[in-house]
Amino acid sequence: RESAAKKFQRQHMDSGNSPGNNTNYCNQMMKRRKMTRGWCKPVNTFVHESLEDVKAICSEKNITCKNGQYNCHQSNSTMNITDCRQTGSSRYPNCVYKTTKLQKRIIVACEGNVSVPVHLDAFV
Ligand code: ADP
Repeated sequence: RESAAKKFQRQHMDSGNSPGNNTNYCNQMMKRRKMTRGWCKPVNTFVHESLEDVKAICSEKNITCKNGQYNCHQSNSTMNITDCRQTGSSRYPNCVYKTTKLQKRIIVACEGNVSVPVHLDAFV
């Protein structure tokens, strides 16, 4: 089975890459990263920073997550990210997304004996 840490990497990490002018980035990546199987995952963020830099967010102080758990952490610096959001006319299995490039601080939930990111909670 895929670990929560690996799932985070599949769903959220796209180091050393960015959409550039490709307005199809989210359409392609949501499919390539298997988030359009069984349903169209409605919202997902890709992070274009090194895994090392994203893992380091787990060392920042604990804050409360959207679900009330206290295992979230906010990045000190802004990060290059891409917000993928399903369009109103998107219908499974033809998942269609709007691609928006942003520079924001991200909030991740971390878990494990060696604390690693398992969920992307928000960007702020
Ligand atoms: P994402 O939320 O990053 O888009 P998923 O919902 O597919 O991805 O998976 C999130 C995983 O993180 C789940 O296995 C969930 O149990 C775990 N998790 C750990 N802490 C939290 C938290 N504070 N909020 C939400 N999910 C969390």
